[in-house]
Amino acid sequence: MSDYGTSDVHRIRQVPKRASYDRETVHAILDAGYVAHVAFVADGAPVALPLFYVRDGESVIFHGSRKARFMRFLGEGAPVCFTVTHMDGLVLARSAFHHSMNYRSVMVHGTPERVAEAEKARALSLFTARARQGRPQETRPANAQETKATQILRLPLVEVAAKVRTGGPLDDPEDMDLPVWAGVVPMAMTFGEPVRDIATVSAG
Ligand SMILES: Cc1cc2nc3c(=O)[nH]c(=O)nc-3n(C[C@H](O)[C@H](O)[C@H](O)COP(=O)(O)OP(=O)(O)OC[C@H]3O[C@@H](n4cnc5c(N)ncnc54)[C@H](O)[C@@H]3O)c2cc1C
Repeated sequence: MSDYGTSDVHRIRQVPKRASYDRETVHAILDAGYVAHVAFVADGAPVALPLFYVRDGESVIFHGSRKARFMRFLGEGAPVCFTVTHMDGLVLARSAFHHSMNYRSVMVHGTPERVAEAEKARALSLFTARARQGRPQETRPANAQETKATQILRLPLVEVAAKVRTGGPLDDPEDMDLPVWAGVVPMAMTFGEPVRDIATVSAG
């Protein structure tokens, strides 16, 4: 897969060896996540909202109530900064200065567009499928009123950057013999045991 043609202003400057513009890397990071932070300016002040998202080919989509304040701004052409971050480990070095974190992150800049009414049903099924494969076929689909009340926004993957840190601490040579524990404490997002919901039928 080819690299994104990210413009200079959105390319990573600090530690560029950790940068990636490769589609496969970006897709893998996006597909591993559920929540993005979507930042924009609303009423003259910056806001960063955590929002559920899904990747749909070469775009990400996110949704919310048509009446939500952010929909008013984002549905009408406000530029956004969209970020997803996965923490993979705490990196403990021999010196305080070289402590770090292992992570995978993606940042996308652009202006989202409203998903057309005719495309909403397919887009909504992508959110349901993200909860569990096959879920759209098992569940009652959104009805006309629910679909109308939901606005879906699409942000194309054009101005995209990924940054990935892996590996152990990068201590200075003169610190290597210090009697201090050094290494990586791995971190991961995991699911717990599912808890079944018990249906209760109203006595009427
Ligand atoms: C994991 C996660 C996933 C979510 N996914 C969705 C989604 O897919 N769709 C959706 O519509 N909403 C989602 N939300 C909720 C979303 O973050 C906003 O709270 C909501 O969309 C807008 O709320 P509002 O209209 O009050 O916000 P606004 O009117 O835009 O915000 C007003 C003020 O409320 C506060 N605020 C708003 N949201 C939050 C928040 N999440 N936490 C703390 N303070 C906040 C801030 O101070 C902000 O300035 C999600 C939240 C979380 C934590």
